[in-house]
This record gives sequence, C-alpha cells and structure tokens, in this order.
Amino acid sequence: MRLSAQRARRVHLHRTYKLAEFALATGTCRGTVRNWIKRGMPAIAGKPTLIPGRLAKPWLIEQIKARKKPCAVDELFCFACQEPVRPAFNEAEIVENRHGEAVMRGLCATCSTLMHKRVSEAQISEICLHLIVQDARRSSTLTGCLVPPVNCALGAPHEEPKVQPGK
Ligand SMILES: [Zn+2]
Repeated sequence: MRLSAQRARRVHLHRTYKLAEFALATGTCRGTVRNWIKRGMPAIAGKPTLIPGRLAKPWLIEQIKARKKPCAVDELFCFACQEPVRPAFNEAEIVENRHGEAVMRGLCATCSTLMHKRVSEAQISEICLHLIVQDARRSSTLTGCLVPPVNCALGAPHEEPKVQPGK
C-alpha cells in the first residue's frame, strides 16, 4: 500500500512496535512493513521484530519527501505520466474554480490529459513570461446576450444586432 504523510503521522515517537502493531498504526499490512524493513527502515531483528517509532517515523517521512516531484511555475503535474510537464504548445488557460480561486489548466504534451493547478495572482504574471496564457476568468456571461461574443475584446461594449425592416 502507498505510504502517505497521514499514515506516517500515526506512528508515535516514544513507542516500540511489533510488526503487526506497526502495520495497524500505519494502516498497512505486515508484508508492506517487511518490505519497508528490507528497503532500510530501522528495526531490531529478532523474534518478534521490533520497530522503534523514534527511528521509523523519520525514515517514513524521508521516503515521502524523496517521492515528491514539485512543479516549476510553468509546469503542471500529469497524473497519467506521474511527472511535472509543461503544457502542450506552451499554452495554458486560467479559469476559476467553484471557490473563486484561479486555476491554471493545460494539456499534457505526451498523453493529452487535462491538468490543473491552483495559482495565485503573483504566479499568473510569472507564468505569462513562460507560457501563452489565456485568462478565461474575465469573460462575460452569455446571459442576456442576443449574440454571443466570439473571441471579441473582453470588456468591449456589446452591440445589439440590427434588425432590418421587412425581414
Ligand atoms: Zn501525461
């Protein structure tokens, strides 16, 4: 089972665990704990195998940190490729999520998966230096429009369609 920070936090520093107890504390099975010991997690060999929490917990946290792949400001994390990648064609779009926060989205150049990342206003101006960014947040709604705006300059006054007499 995949190790998470939440599971690692359940390990107490001042406690020594048997194999089954450690598996229970971390929400994994005994086989997983044996694999961790084989990979270098500190344990006292014997019958039963004992796992000191003060040594095992830092090891688990270190494993989680080593697995992380942080994204650069112009990268998005592709869950299909399991890698941070620059969006395809160097194009990204800024949209708003349901909480009103800015989200950068783009397509993975390798597998075309749609990727998302929450960004701040300060990050957006930096992203614009590296990528072609389209800000879709400031588009007007189509409610009340007779003719929907097609790639028009946003914020420009909307013209009502002219009705020709006799038609
Ligand atoms: Zn991908």
